[in-house]
This record gives sequence, structure tokens and C-alpha cells, in this order.
Amino acid sequence: MSISHISKSIYQLDITPPDFLGPLTKDIKCDIAIIGGGLTGVSTALSLSEKGYNVCLFEAGSIGDGGSGRNGGQICQGWSTSFEKLSKYIDPEFHQDIWLTGIEGPPLIKDRIEKYKIDCDVQWGYVHTAIHKGHMRELDDYQRSFEQRGYSELTTIPDKSSLFNYICSDAYIGGLYDGGSGHLHPLKYLIGLAKAATKAGANIYTNSPISHITTNKHKNKLITEKGFIITAEQLVICGNVYLGSVSPKKLRRRIAPVTSSVMATEPLSKSEMEDTIPSKAAIADGNTALNYFRIDKQNRLIFGGRASYLNTDPPNVEADLKNRLKAVFPNLMHKKIIQAWSGRIGVTVNRIPDFGRVSDTAIYVQGYSGHGVAFSGVAANILSEAATGYSKRFNQLIKVPHIPFPGGPLRTPILALGMNWHKMKDYFQI
Ligand SMILES: Cc1cc2nc3c(=O)[nH]c(=O)nc-3n(C[C@H](O)[C@H](O)[C@H](O)COP(=O)(O)OP(=O)(O)OC[C@H]3O[C@@H](n4cnc5c(N)ncnc54)[C@H](O)[C@@H]3O)c2cc1C
Repeated sequence: MSISHISKSIYQLDITPPDFLGPLTKDIKCDIAIIGGGLTGVSTALSLSEKGYNVCLFEAGSIGDGGSGRNGGQICQGWSTSFEKLSKYIDPEFHQDIWLTGIEGPPLIKDRIEKYKIDCDVQWGYVHTAIHKGHMRELDDYQRSFEQRGYSELTTIPDKSSLFNYICSDAYIGGLYDGGSGHLHPLKYLIGLAKAATKAGANIYTNSPISHITTNKHKNKLITEKGFIITAEQLVICGNVYLGSVSPKKLRRRIAPVTSSVMATEPLSKSEMEDTIPSKAAIADGNTALNYFRIDKQNRLIFGGRASYLNTDPPNVEADLKNRLKAVFPNLMHKKIIQAWSGRIGVTVNRIPDFGRVSDTAIYVQGYSGHGVAFSGVAANILSEAATGYSKRFNQLIKVPHIPFPGGPLRTPILALGMNWHKMKDYFQI
């Protein structure tokens, strides 16, 4: 059922998540059951238990075993696709609300770090870099569209010499700085949220894979792999792309797993840091199979990239990422790589998160398409509203149509072919 990974992430080497209540060992009843101990599930547990609901969360392995404990740590505001594309499906009177929803993520992270005193190495500042003129035009459009709606954190970086104040690399010709986005240690943040949820009364069961879900308009019945039964008034499904075959069919075909990989170097010296990312910002470039990187609070370069629709951990992660690193920072090729790992990103065809209902009493979200660190907290607030009453945002977002990915035995090869086409477009700067 669950996806197993070849390597732990650097974060999982830094810190071992607590077991919380450990595995479920008896049948139980609760108001609201949540499947998935990633950023979405845990944030939902926190929001609901803060409101006084009796919440039980079930995680197949340890907290953060999915994408949430394996990502690049980049906090990026905004929707994972242009708002213009999303707004076509939203009633005009809700446009501003839904636009604001997209930028709620980073301030929510800031508030939670402060409120719960979560020590998670947060650093603000983010640079979108441009490889060619086409990317610069896209960044100009992005800036114009955000500023028209009142977002004032963006600064144009018009050329290479100004870019060197932020990032010293010949791979890029300019970029856009965003003071409202940034980066953090995702597993430290997630564990901080999980501890806060527990303190607020949430019951977190780890090593408790759910192997069967039955839902109807009155209640939900979940069965764990060990055969224990959970009866819940409401169900919130946050297993994302890791749900596998337990996922109701409707959800399964609406997302595809994209495998992305990340590596961590040994710590950089002070002068190496000044010669690479003097601004300490998180960086992402404009390609479909983008490179994303940052220097963390331990002075390690956390460098991510490559993307594949093949649903397995790829071999040669370190060699492949080092090739990409060479194009960006050839001066760092001598640094030792202390860890390299992969994980699955849930992607929808239109790159808009897929919110929906499985029954009158069961809701879900999935497919942040690479933007979940910031957006998961917001999505969790929307799910909490919907699970406990009326949510105008949920009701708008479930109207977005999500066409299924091609299915059947050819699913993976077809998806892989599609990805190669996008990579080729980047290469030829189409
Ligand atoms: C390599 C990589 C790099 C990324 N980099 C970034 C980045 O820099 N910035 C960014 O914003 N996003 C990034 N992402 C995406 C981001 O990590 C995800 O969007 C986010 O973590 C999704 O959180 P989630 O809680 O919805 O899902 P997940 O974190 O995937 O959690 C799902 C959880 O559900 C559990 N589960 C599944 N099925 C069951 C079951 N049957 N029973 C019990 N538990 C179950 C899984 O074990 C898992 O822990 C990256 C992802 C990857 C893989």
C-alpha cells in the first residue's frame, strides 16, 4: 500500500519524530478521523483540536514519512498555477477571497512558529531565477499580476550583476525576489505542529496504516492493517499521493506521482556561502523540471531537482544532482554529499490542488503540485471549515474540474513521455 523509499532524507537523519500514541491496538470511535501524518493531516488535526473537536489521526509510518519530511523546505506563496487559470472556475464575487487564500500560507507559518515556539530554522526571502529571456517575461507578468492585487513583497532583479547580490551563479540572467516567501526545516516544523496538535487534544496514531475505507452519508468506518476498526462522524483524507490503492477510485486518477530528488552537502564555509547565496534566500528556477536550492541553518546546501513520472526511487540520484549542481555552482563540486534522497509529489493535470468530497461525511485534498509546504496549512484550515460546517472556500474550490490522468497499464510510460516533452520544451526554450 505505502511507498517505501531507498534513503532517508537529511531531515530524518537530523531528527527522529516521536511515536506519539504509537499503533492503534483497539477499536475506537471519534468525531473526526484524519488519514495521513504529513503537513496537511497534522495541520488539520491542529486546526480541529484547537476548535475543541475529538480528532484521531492515523499515519501509516512515522510523522513526515511522505513528501512532508522529504521536501526542499521551500516556503512559496501563491497558487501552484497562475491565478488567472484558477479564477475561470470561481464565482466572480469570490475571486479576491480565493486570491488571498493563495498567499495565506507564509503568514500562517510565521504565526504558528511564533505561537507554538517551533524551532525550525526558518529564513525569509526567495528568488525565482530566469534562465532565458522567456523566463524573465514570465516573471514580469507574475509580478504585474501580484502587484495589481496588492502584493508588495516582489522586487525585480533585472540583470546578472544585480542578481549576484542574491545568488552568484552564471546559470541565470536575472530574476524576481519575494520577501514574503522563504525556507525552513520541514520535519522540525511538522513535528512542532504535531506536538501542538497533541497538546490541544488530538490523538496521533503512528505505524497505523488504514487498509480499508467505507463511507456513507451517516458515518465512516476505517480498518487498520491489523484489523482494528475506527468509527468516525467525519473523515478527512490527507494521504495525498502516498495513499496508493486505499485511495477511493475518484481520487486516484486525478493525481499522478512525480518523483523529485534532493541532496545535502557537507556545511559550506563562510566564504563559500558568500560566493553562492549571499542573500540566504531560497532559490528556484523557471524550468518544468526545476532546480530548487537553499543554504540551511547548518550551512549545508540543500539542492533539489530532476523529476520523473516513474513511480520508483531512481538510481544515481547523487550523480544526477551533481551534474545539475555543476551547471549552477561549479565552484562547489568538491563538496562532499552527505545525503541524497527522493520522494513523491502529487501532481494534478491543471496543477491546481484537488479539493473534493467522497461522501457527505468524507472530504479530501491532494495534488499541491509541488507547493505544499506553504499551502498545506491553508488547505487544512479549509478542510477544517468544511468538516465542521459551511466553507465557502471549499465550495468554490471543489468546482474546479480535474480531468483524470491516462489510466490502465500504460499509465506510467505515457506520463513519462509527457514529462520528456516538457523537458525538451525547456531545453529548446519554446
Ligand atoms: C522531493 C520533494 C521535494 C519537494 N519540495 C517542496 C518544496 O521545496 N516546497 C514545497 O512547497 N513543496 C515541496 N514538495 C511538495 C510537498 O512536500 C508536499 O506538497 C506536501 O508535503 C504534501 O503534504 P501532505 O501532508 O498533503 O502529503 P504527504 O506529506 O505526502 O503525507 C501523506 C501521508 O499520508 C500517509 N498515508 C498514506 N496512506 C496512508 C494510509 N492508508 N494510512 C495511514 N497513513 C497513510 C503517508 O505515509 C504520508 O505520511 C516536495 C515534495 C518532494 C517529494
